[in-house]
Amino acid sequence: MDINFDGLDNLVKKMGATVKDWDSGKSTQDIKLKPIDTGNKKSIREALKEFEIDKETGILYKDGVPWILYIKAPKDATIEELKNTPKESKNTPRYHITGDCSTIETMKRNNRYDRYVFDPNIEEKFEVFGYKRRSKWWGQGTPELVKDVELGVCYNCLKRAKYKNIGRESTTDLKKNFDVKKWFEDNVQEKFLKPKFSYKNYPNPTYNLDFNRKSSDLKFRRNWTCEHCGLDGSSHKRLIHCDHIDGNPGNNNSSNLRLLCVDCHRAKGQNKSVGSHSDYRACLDLKRKQNKVIYSE
Ligand SMILES: [Zn+2]
Ligand SMILES: [Zn+2]
Repeated sequence: MDINFDGLDNLVKKMGATVKDWDSGKSTQDIKLKPIDTGNKKSIREALKEFEIDKETGILYKDGVPWILYIKAPKDATIEELKNTPKESKNTPRYHITGDCSTIETMKRNNRYDRYVFDPNIEEKFEVFGYKRRSKWWGQGTPELVKDVELGVCYNCLKRAKYKNIGRESTTDLKKNFDVKKWFEDNVQEKFLKPKFSYKNYPNPTYNLDFNRKSSDLKFRRNWTCEHCGLDGSSHKRLIHCDHIDGNPGNNNSSNLRLLCVDCHRAKGQNKSVGSHSDYRACLDLKRKQNKVIYSE
C-alpha cells in the first residue's frame, strides 16, 4: 500500500526530529544465553526432553537458542588441572556440542548423571568445581568453583556432528583447535531459533515515517520495477507499491519489503483491495503494452 507522508515529513523537518532506524533482526553472530541447571531432581534424560535436537548436527535448541552441555561438578578434577591443563587432563570434563553423542546416550541409559548443566557459553569459558587434591579415599575436601575454565570439546560430539577435521587432525589437535564459536555460527539453523518478534517488540501495525523513507529508497534503487511480474513503472510511478510481505505495515525490516505493481499487489499481497480503480485500469494497460502477465483477473 502506498501512502503519502510528505506533510508529516515536512512537519518532522520543522521540528528538527530525526527518523530512527530500527532492526529487530536476530543474528546467529550474537547468540548469548543464560545457563540452566538441570537441578537435583531431574535426570539428564528428563532435562533433555525440553530441548529440540537438530537431527543433522545434534545441536540442542531451547527457547530459540542453541545450548552446550557439560558437567559442572566432576568427580575428580583438581583446581590445578582445571586451571592449567583443562583440555588435556583425563579428570577434567568435556563439554558437549550435541545432545546425543555416544557419551550422552550412555549417560541417558545409565540415568544416574544428574550433574550435567546446560550452558550456552560459546566463549569456551566454563564454571567447574574442582578439588584441592585428589584422593582415592574420603577426604578430598570441599570443592571450589573455578571460573573461566577452558574445557575441551567432547570427541564423540565431533564424531556425531561429522566435524570436518575428524581424521585430518589428531584428537589432541582437534580439541585444541576446535573453535566452538565459529562452529555454532556456521551450523546454527534459523528454523530452530525463535521468531523475530515477541508480543512485546512486535511493531505496531501502522504506517510510519520509517516506512515512507524505506519505501522511497527501495523504489529508487529498483527503479520502480515490479518484483513479481517485472513491469517497468518508472514512467508511471504511482502504479508501483511497496508491499509488506508479512502483512504488517509496521514491520519495515528490509527483508519484509518488496515492490509490486497494482495488479500483482492485488493478486499477491495480503490486502486484496489495494489501488484505486483508475490506477488498476492504468496498470493493466501498461502491462499489456509491456507484455506482462496479468494476475488479478
Ligand atoms: Zn559429546
Ligand atoms: Zn507486477
